Amino acid sequence: MSFNRLIGQEEMRGLLFRILSEEKINHALLLTGPAGSGKKSWGRLLAMAILCPERDGVDPCLDCPSCRSFQSGNHPGFYAVKPDGRNIKIEQFRSIRESFYLQGNKKVCLIENAEMMTAEASSSLLKILEEPPSDLHFILLAEQARYLFDTIVSRCQRYNIRPLNCGELKNLLVHEHNLSSEKAELLARISGGLPGLAFDLLEDDKFEDRYQEAKTLAYNLATGCDSARQLLSWANYLSEKEDLVLFLELLCLFYRDKMVQNLCSTEPAAWLPHVSSDGLEEAVILINSVIYEMNNTNVNRRLLLEKSLILLQRRLSQCQKLSEFALKRREKHTTFYQN
Ligand SMILES: [Zn+2]
Repeated sequence: MSFNRLIGQEEMRGLLFRILSEEKINHALLLTGPAGSGKKSWGRLLAMAILCPERDGVDPCLDCPSCRSFQSGNHPGFYAVKPDGRNIKIEQFRSIRESFYLQGNKKVCLIENAEMMTAEASSSLLKILEEPPSDLHFILLAEQARYLFDTIVSRCQRYNIRPLNCGELKNLLVHEHNLSSEKAELLARISGGLPGLAFDLLEDDKFEDRYQEAKTLAYNLATGCDSARQLLSWANYLSEKEDLVLFLELLCLFYRDKMVQNLCSTEPAAWLPHVSSDGLEEAVILINSVIYEMNNTNVNRRLLLEKSLILLQRRLSQCQKLSEFALKRREKHTTFYQN
């Protein structure tokens, strides 16, 4: 594994390369970024690079005893700490703390989900960071720095991992996972540029089903072909699904794509040619507000879905594009009244 295998993050890459090549590695590094952004991959590679005594520049050599033991998962100087249940507890540091002070080779302690350290565990880490052994480095991974003690954050070199852009992630999925361009683009967009989330979806057997169901519902709502009873039954079915928010994001994606296509293309659309951009825009706004409510309130999912699906169908059917015949009729009326 070399840093070239990790794509994107040019700003962070430049900063990390500088500290590695100049050997100016702090005792504590903090990588922040949303879940699925690749913090763990970057953190582990960074740890292997710090530990490798044969490193020439930035990449670990992959061949020395240190690199080999790291890759096989039993490097004596690598400590991985992650939540035990809901928290990272002080006992987890107590059990390894003594070995941090052993003389010898470099040591790296990688702390996943560092924001889940209890106050006692944070204090314990802080004590070590106040007078760290010269050959010990901590790599903290967290979604946001604000959930950590300020006194810990202030002792860290900080790096922010951002979501990849859609093109970068699509290329990765096409070239490394042999996906079709269409599927790779869909996954890149629905995952919001987060590779971890895209890989999870790729391995999720239900994803293809959800995709097809969302496409069917998007079509049915826009054409008004479902009765109110059928919409209530959709609401009932969907409200039981764990991945309801993902489903709604897919539904939203269909209408957003269609809206962009309407606005940018002069060609007649093959899918839902009769729905106007106004209707699609309203649908996107409405679905996003439903997603927000689902994520941020204790709303009754079934009732919210029932209300929203009926409203969506009504708004989409009220915002139909006028047919050529209707357009001509309207022109005729306007001319008549103008004269
Ligand atoms: Zn090595």
